[in-house]
Amino acid sequence: MALLAVGSVALDSLQTPFGVREDVLGGSATYFSTAASFFAPVRVVAVVGEDFPQVHVDFLRGRGVDVSGLERRAGRTFRWSGRYEFDLNQAHTLDTQLNVFADFRPELPEAFRDSSHVFLGNIDPELQLRVLDQVRAPRIVAADTMNFWISSKRATLLEVLRRVDLLFVNDAEARQLAGEHNIVKAARAILAFGPRAVVVKRGEYGALFFSGTEVFASSAYPLAELFDPTGAGDSFAGGFMGYLARSGSLEIPAMRRAIVVGSVLASYAVERFSLDRLRDLGPHEIRARYAEFRRLAHFDDLDVDVLPVAPRP
Ligand code: AMP
Repeated sequence: MALLAVGSVALDSLQTPFGVREDVLGGSATYFSTAASFFAPVRVVAVVGEDFPQVHVDFLRGRGVDVSGLERRAGRTFRWSGRYEFDLNQAHTLDTQLNVFADFRPELPEAFRDSSHVFLGNIDPELQLRVLDQVRAPRIVAADTMNFWISSKRATLLEVLRRVDLLFVNDAEARQLAGEHNIVKAARAILAFGPRAVVVKRGEYGALFFSGTEVFASSAYPLAELFDPTGAGDSFAGGFMGYLARSGSLEIPAMRRAIVVGSVLASYAVERFSLDRLRDLGPHEIRARYAEFRRLAHFDDLDVDVLPVAPRP
């Protein structure tokens, strides 16, 4: 099973209540590939500029990521700058410089076209469609998107939704896309647009999975160390898709485990700035936190009879 990731590879400038970082490694495809690389071979398709440090490419390669689809072009790398208030759930974009990303036309190397699991990171839905046209017979295609595309390219995004199996969105995006405040109703409306499943990410409150009549809720890990929420969503998606590729199953029990694996990867990603925590994360730590998630969610059957309350006189 091979996993294909298309998205941004970026230099981020970040401000959180815990510090400031300039031009650090970021981007949706970067977080996704790094998280997924714990489980399966990943192929990345993205573009960077001449200024992109080679050490970052070497880092991805060192994680076993196939970077032959990472184009280096004349010009500057995509830059995103964001700020988080004390409530870390909400990123405020300060600046987006598309640079070489502005005329990015993803071109899949021939060897990538047989990918079994495909992740269309948060990019222009027109480009997401272009990637879909180039893959042969993927077993599962998942997509991510954001408020910007929901408002500016809605019709194209709806076309993407007709062609993907799974959509990752956060709660605000789900509401905006469905035009519905209630998250359960919003998820149902999104399923009616086409995908077989939708994952609604709710930051520190966890994630909800909807497919047909199936609903699964995972809490987030109650973290004491949280420094930089950037990349949580993409690390979640990377853990989720990486696990599915590794397990080979697309059945509901595998999806449930994937939600928890995604939550584990996201919980580690936010413990330090940029990809610093994922860089030194060990497989044993993934296992350990997965086990903690199980304990966290476990409760026994009710062990007493609940008596009917007598009506008050
Ligand atoms: P998230 O997982 O949603 O926190 O994604 C964070 C990453 O998305 C950052 O590292 C940014 O570089 C990247 N990003 C932010 N805005 C955009 C955009 N408009 N297009 C592509 N990537 C973006």
